[in-house]
Amino acid sequence: MSKENYSDYFEETDLDKAHDAWNEDKAKSEWSKTSRPAQGEHVYRALPKRKGAKHEHFYRIVYIHYLRHPEDRDNLLLVTLCPNDGDAKEAKCDICKGARLVRKANGWDWKKTKEVGLYPDRKMFLGAVRLTNQGGVLDGDDGKPFVMDVPYDVETSLMTLLNRESPRFFGDISHPFEGINFSIERKGKGRQDTKYSFDPLNRKPLELANLEWLKDLPDLDAVETLMGVERIHHALGEHYPATGYLPPVDGGGGADDDDDEDDLVPDPDNAGAMITRGDLKKRQASA
Ligand SMILES: [Zn+2]
Repeated sequence: MSKENYSDYFEETDLDKAHDAWNEDKAKSEWSKTSRPAQGEHVYRALPKRKGAKHEHFYRIVYIHYLRHPEDRDNLLLVTLCPNDGDAKEAKCDICKGARLVRKANGWDWKKTKEVGLYPDRKMFLGAVRLTNQGGVLDGDDGKPFVMDVPYDVETSLMTLLNRESPRFFGDISHPFEGINFSIERKGKGRQDTKYSFDPLNRKPLELANLEWLKDLPDLDAVETLMGVERIHHALGEHYPATGYLPPVDGGGGADDDDDEDDLVPDPDNAGAMITRGDLKKRQASA
């Protein structure tokens, strides 16, 4: 057999795609390390910002596109961080850019555009640790620092504690020596009926229950879901043609293109041998 004949047995790796896919997988695993407060009522402590982190405060605000199918909002097409960080100039984000075109073409209002994820959702993350009801250290993984995906209700109440004008001003609640513990109660499970309530637990500064946690502060910068440009364009092109992006090509073209006369196909009259599609057609026509 010549070298060409062996090409039917293996596929070459698309290096760009492989790298993108790897990046997305890695991003997914960082993403999955975030969690919402647990069911019931629990005591937590916000942890300070890790030394050298890029984000500004002890928490980090991110903008995320939960891109959904235009007709079926339960069909999540992709989840990715918006590189604009909520900046309306739309310079760096292809989904934000596409949103304007889709709005115009379909006459959608702001709400509808947001509901399908063409506009990003804002989210807060913070490093936290869960404590016993008395403020002590929990055993095992339950007591390890983690990245809390902060529910909006909690975020609002928590931020009033940082506001000097607020009667509930506490100062830097994340400070390891001067911060406070707080409780979060979560009721309900579903997307619609889940409610959170938040309460600060001590008036006076309270030292972090385990100062060793400071050596292991969660890396909020690592929480990323930036997907490959190709995948974003394909999802937009396929479901939002007004964006002008192209949908994925069916069959992949090239070797899979049925019309290509030079493609090698197995020879039906000669077991194990290959023949070009063009030659096979000619033979079949003359038979
Ligand atoms: Zn965006």
